[in-house]
Amino acid sequence: MSDTLYIVVPCYNEEEVLPETARRLREKLEQLMGEGKISPQSRVLFVNDGSRDGTWSVIQGLHRDCPLFSGADLSRNRGHQNALLAGLMTAKDRSDMVISMDADLQDDINAVDAMVDKFHEGCDIVYGVRSSRAKDSFFKRTTAEGFYRVMNFLGAETVFNHADYRLMSRRALEGLAQFREVNLFLRGIVPLIGYNAGYVAYERGERFAGESKYPLKKMLSFALEGITSLSTKPIRYITLLGFLVFLVSILMLVYSVVRWAHGDTVIGWASVICSVWAIGGLILLSLGVIGEYIGKIYLETKGRPRFLIREVLEETDETAL
Ligand code: UDP
Ligand code: MG
Repeated sequence: MSDTLYIVVPCYNEEEVLPETARRLREKLEQLMGEGKISPQSRVLFVNDGSRDGTWSVIQGLHRDCPLFSGADLSRNRGHQNALLAGLMTAKDRSDMVISMDADLQDDINAVDAMVDKFHEGCDIVYGVRSSRAKDSFFKRTTAEGFYRVMNFLGAETVFNHADYRLMSRRALEGLAQFREVNLFLRGIVPLIGYNAGYVAYERGERFAGESKYPLKKMLSFALEGITSLSTKPIRYITLLGFLVFLVSILMLVYSVVRWAHGDTVIGWASVICSVWAIGGLILLSLGVIGEYIGKIYLETKGRPRFLIREVLEETDETAL
């Protein structure tokens, strides 16, 4: 079979890891081509997400030396999710299947074989799922697993222990292209596309050079982004809370009437003050959540482009495409 595979790799300040990543990806592509599982037109597409270091010149060099590598250069840093989307949309029209993975080779490259096999078996989306988190620190493990649980509880359904290592067929990507939202959380959107899904388990290793581009602050805003851009459940919980507080206030009213009927009219000053504070807090909280959604509507109505590609590297020879 000769289906064309594109491997999309978003890169932000990755000059240290790129040469090694490129070497291993090249080996993988050549092996798969040798086995006849993918066509000779298959490529690795590096997306430079507005890096401040020499990442783009490394990518240009790789492209010059070997036709298996191509690159796309974003106009500025737009973050992992947008860089990934830019790569997926660039690869969509050139390939039959696209695999996305990180530049740091934390995702086990050997899972690619199984993903391609699943594609040939008829899967449109193949999720790479981490088999264990034994290598993670206790902190990373608990926060990450808690993240998936909280996300699912709040209505943003994601595949457990799946990050952005996945294969998507051309058909699935065409579906993805129709999700026009600006606030992008791919992990939550991809399951919404549907079609046949497959799962491949893999071990996630350590980043072999450089440091993580996802500090805690970015992780938290990523989680918040996921929840608020996919689900309106939080707002429903607020409504529920308001309803419960209302019920309690009715019970309190009944209670005070009963006390009054017994001639016991001592009314606690402290409880009044406490209620004022509690209700004031709740109102503020509700306003905050509502504001979050209104902010999103505001951004969506602007219809800003999610990315602008400066340049795409590819062969000029048409037959090479
Ligand atoms: N990345 C990106 N833009 C950013 C931050 C990260 O394209 O603004 C890329 C980065 O180059 C890497 C991937 O996203 O290929 C995942 O980042 P990283 O490995 O730092 O995250 P971690 O594995 O620590 O969660
Ligand atoms: Mg990483």
